[in-house]
Amino acid sequence: LAILLFIVVLMNIYILNKSIIRSATRPYEILQKYTNVLFNDTMHELKTPLGILNINLDLLSRNSEPNKYVKRMKTAIKQIQVNYESIEYYIKNRKIKYSKEKINLSTYLESRIEYFEDIANSKFIKIRSEIENKIYVYMNSLELQRVIDNTLMNAIKYSRPESNVEINLALDENKNYALLSIKDYGYGIKDTDAIFDRFSREDTIQGGFGLGLNIVKTICNKDGIKISVESKENFGSTFSYRFEIYKIKFLDRIEDAK
Ligand code: ADP
Repeated sequence: LAILLFIVVLMNIYILNKSIIRSATRPYEILQKYTNVLFNDTMHELKTPLGILNINLDLLSRNSEPNKYVKRMKTAIKQIQVNYESIEYYIKNRKIKYSKEKINLSTYLESRIEYFEDIANSKFIKIRSEIENKIYVYMNSLELQRVIDNTLMNAIKYSRPESNVEINLALDENKNYALLSIKDYGYGIKDTDAIFDRFSREDTIQGGFGLGLNIVKTICNKDGIKISVESKENFGSTFSYRFEIYKIKFLDRIEDAK
């Protein structure tokens, strides 16, 4: 009985010890986790503009015949400026509460497609788009950019070289919603629900943090944008977004008619 009692006491000491160690390390673990999350978010936001800066600087440094490539150089320099501004804006506005505004989704989308054209071209991917004119939404422009950029960047990143990325923007039948779809003919996705979880990644070849779609989902949930994903492994994926449209007010209508 004494031996049994001794063993029970020993086991209790062991269990108590473990829980003390666990509770002592927990605040540190939590702090470390949040620091990592913050760091990864920051890294993710800077990844795309820095990547484009890098591509353009590389192109400029390789061009030895400036006259032949003047147009290309001008575009590269313009993109370097835009991306520099984007990084600067991100750093300055990190703490500012985001405000919403009326945005012409049609022209905004066109400008984002133009922005990604060079990256797509470097993989011999063609971006084809059908965009209905004058579709307005009411949201924060930086957040809209995050939704479009993350989805479009993924479509290019996970596409096969020399394939197409197809983008469609149109109003639904009742003209209440804007329907945006971004379709690729790439590797496809096994588990379309899991990819929206933080740090979730299926891909093992390309680099990434598994954060982009989680950010997209957070923004969409907040703004009532419905997301749906259809995908077939080895055939490609379509990401669709349903935005509530901005109801045009009287004054807007006059402005619109101009
Ligand atoms: P990452 O930085 O890893 O691309 P995301 O959150 O944007 O992070 O995407 C999460 C994962 O979802 C990716 O690692 C990839 O496995 C998968 N994924 C996202 N978009 C696509 C797509 N268009 N085609 C195939 N897989 C995709």
